[in-house]
Amino acid sequence: MSAQIPIIVQKFGGSSVADVAGIRRVAAHVVATRRAGHRVVVVVSAMGKTTDSLVQLAHELTPTPDRRELDMLLTAGERIAMAILAMAIRDLGEPATSLTGSQCGIITNDAPGGARIVEVRPFRVQDALDAGQIVIVAGFQGVSWKKEVTTLGRGGSDTTAVALAAALSAEACEIYSDVDGVYSADPRKVPDARRLETLGHDEMLAMARAGAKVLGADAVAWARLHDVALYARASDGRPGETVVRLNPPADRPWIAAVTQRPHCALLNWRGDVPNLPSVLQASAVPPILSLSLPDQTLLLIGRDVADAVDPHFARLIDRLRALPDAQQHAPTLLEGTLVSIVGPAVGRECDLVSPFRDALAPFLTPQTPVLAHGLTLSCLLPPDQADAAVAALHAAFLGGAA
Ligand code: ASP
Ligand code: MG
Repeated sequence: MSAQIPIIVQKFGGSSVADVAGIRRVAAHVVATRRAGHRVVVVVSAMGKTTDSLVQLAHELTPTPDRRELDMLLTAGERIAMAILAMAIRDLGEPATSLTGSQCGIITNDAPGGARIVEVRPFRVQDALDAGQIVIVAGFQGVSWKKEVTTLGRGGSDTTAVALAAALSAEACEIYSDVDGVYSADPRKVPDARRLETLGHDEMLAMARAGAKVLGADAVAWARLHDVALYARASDGRPGETVVRLNPPADRPWIAAVTQRPHCALLNWRGDVPNLPSVLQASAVPPILSLSLPDQTLLLIGRDVADAVDPHFARLIDRLRALPDAQQHAPTLLEGTLVSIVGPAVGRECDLVSPFRDALAPFLTPQTPVLAHGLTLSCLLPPDQADAAVAALHAAFLGGAA
């Protein structure tokens, strides 16, 4: 009989479950959802800054903690949160069972520190739901085909939630955090930033890749692939939300947001470098854009910036300079913060580069490249100029105070 009752997946971020009071609030919210007539699967992040503390703990011991053991350590954060939340829900009189990522059948590849989900086999979740349980799942973790415990990269609990929502054909995937949705810019930095009511998966994915917070890029990519609608809401019950779905209304803004993403780098390389892909791979710096110009330019990104120091860029340029014909290719690498506008207008309107340059006139030299990639138009700036540049772009493109 329970098969007909719609499933809702609710994900709560670390700040929502930071302490006992927060856990009780979340438990009450979950219980209310169930009593309103839903089957509920809850995905939790580690409480508060637990993951940061665990990373720090490992790094106090050694600058290069073993990746397998680090994954083992970090998954403990979410296990604490899931067990505590299950207890709190039981305390309110509803049946609840907690499950690890591995128990839920979240199967990943074995890339340490940033595994990707390859398959979800949620049999135990189904069984527990059929038995009338509220299921609490530890986010941010899975198990590889070698039966090793893996983590999904920082912020990976969103991905857990979306992957489970898709596998369970859930009616909704709700992502609760300390903000009431996705904004046209970071509201802490741009006071007149607006909450965005509805976004397409493509736009949200481009925004997340360009540095927008609230919803992780991997999670949005998964939602797009499996057509899962996402609802980003505040866990304190404030009204308002951002809905991310397949076909957003056509009358929404053509430029959705202004974003910034730290720890990016622009690599310039003259001529053809046959072994470039393998050099990039060995340095663990996946390109998010590659442009073939008369001088080839690649835009690069640090793999996991929250992972203490990021040695990837330095390693990459060292490798390039060590190549046999390095001299003639003259590799240069410029690090900085990627500042972008994102929206359906990019790539459709040909005259956006000029207003983009005009808005950023105080920050750009004529040589600063402006890069168009998909729905995103970006440039790389020194980190200390990024906030001012974002404010200038927001004022120019999103009607902020002139
Ligand atoms: N606790 C993990 C992190 O802090 C995963 C998550 O929050 O989604 O990155
Ligand atoms: Mg977290």
